[in-house]
Amino acid sequence: VSTSFKCLISRYCKNSNIFLLLGTIMPELPEVETVCRVLRPKVVGCKIVGVDFPNNYTSVFKFSSEAECILGSLIQAVERRGKHILFHLDQGILSCHLRMTGRLLLQEPLSLKHVSLKISFENGKALWFQDIRKFGRFVWHATLEAFEKVTQLGVEPLSKAWTKECLESLLKKSSARIKGFLLDQKNIAGLGNIYVDEALWFAGIHPLTVSSTLNHQQVVLLQTGIKDILSESLARHGTTFLSFYFDDGKAGSYKEMLKVFGRTGQPCLRCETPIIKIRVCQRGTHVCPCCQKVTPC
Ligand SMILES: [Zn+2]
Repeated sequence: VSTSFKCLISRYCKNSNIFLLLGTIMPELPEVETVCRVLRPKVVGCKIVGVDFPNNYTSVFKFSSEAECILGSLIQAVERRGKHILFHLDQGILSCHLRMTGRLLLQEPLSLKHVSLKISFENGKALWFQDIRKFGRFVWHATLEAFEKVTQLGVEPLSKAWTKECLESLLKKSSARIKGFLLDQKNIAGLGNIYVDEALWFAGIHPLTVSSTLNHQQVVLLQTGIKDILSESLARHGTTFLSFYFDDGKAGSYKEMLKVFGRTGQPCLRCETPIIKIRVCQRGTHVCPCCQKVTPC
């Protein structure tokens, strides 16, 4: 993390210590779904009449020609797929990935600083994309199939397709460590560092366990845990640590429900052993060394 970014984020978020403690945090399924639910009633039916880059940061689109593709389009629906927000247009699909600090604002921000994109609608309203780290991206796809082909996203863990049989068959084919397996969007779409740590703690599985070696009971616990944790977080509008806000400034409240993520040194809520933080798949990973063993007891 660069020093300038630390300064920037501390001014921007007021609680930079949390950022330094936890490293990279990105909106995951519950946070992105929350954003979609807020946007849907506000932008569906709106016609796009303007696309502007207030800070000339045209790289917010993968290709500059994409801005022209959406001009004149009507937004017919807003859906989530994995961590992507999909604006279904009458001509194609506009996907948005918030990455680390991207925010979609429905009210004009006080300052246009860090605003990468402004999408204006025929009714006089607009959507602003504010992103201090500038990792957020918009991509236009001719069809939903084209989006799926490019992203290769796996199963949605809040869909009917998410069953223990589904997870079991995916795990059997994988020699990856379970943490890496769960983070891989091609296996399961929408999970990130927070909910993977929470689900593995819930199921009592060590993040370094080889995926194909999980026993049936562990698979059942993991499948249920992922579904329940994501549902509960969604009901609380996600987890706000630092930069995730929705509906122009509201925070998610799942942070207070976290059992292991961000609790380094604090007692495990099941066995009171202090939670440790280790590095798995280049990610800071929170583990109870007693409840989560590599070899099942
Ligand atoms: Zn424990």
